[in-house]
Amino acid sequence: MSLSGRESAWANVDVPSIFPTHVSGQRQDVRRPAAEDAPAPVPWVTEVADMDTKIEKTDEEWRRELTPEQYKILRGKGTERAWTGEHNQTKEPGVFRCAGCGAELFSSDTKFESGSGWPSFYEPAKPENVETEEDRSFFSRRVEVHCAQCEGHLGHVFDDGPRPTGQRYCINSAALEFEPKTDETAS
Ligand code: FE
Repeated sequence: MSLSGRESAWANVDVPSIFPTHVSGQRQDVRRPAAEDAPAPVPWVTEVADMDTKIEKTDEEWRRELTPEQYKILRGKGTERAWTGEHNQTKEPGVFRCAGCGAELFSSDTKFESGSGWPSFYEPAKPENVETEEDRSFFSRRVEVHCAQCEGHLGHVFDDGPRPTGQRYCINSAALEFEPKTDETAS
């Protein structure tokens, strides 16, 4: 198949300038160039839906908006001392939101007493709001948990939790903000 003038024109396009960008909030109509015209493999962005909801802030903005304890944990992947967190003992019905961006992370319905000294849940409120990543720090292999929206560090997840999931999301209290259930939020 011969190339039309329009397709061959891609050879002169500055590739980075045509990437969809979530910063501007505008998606651009990206057309894949003909294989013969592509000078090198291009890391095409095929999935941009999730990126539209990502929250990105500068380090200075996070420092300004978070308390020192929240900053240390959410942005610095720190860990609060066991049994010191405000929500370790919280037992009221409600929703635990990300202290960085307000995303709904965990429900009191899945909170359980793990004996660890940190708020523990057996599953996220919405699976898409919580992401995990392998963590090899401190000479161990753990699974790190962070907020999908602002990428703030929350804690770790272990597979020694109770039924029905068998998982234990061990979360820093300072990474959470509790929203008690009210008549209006009750379903
Ligand atoms: Fe967040």
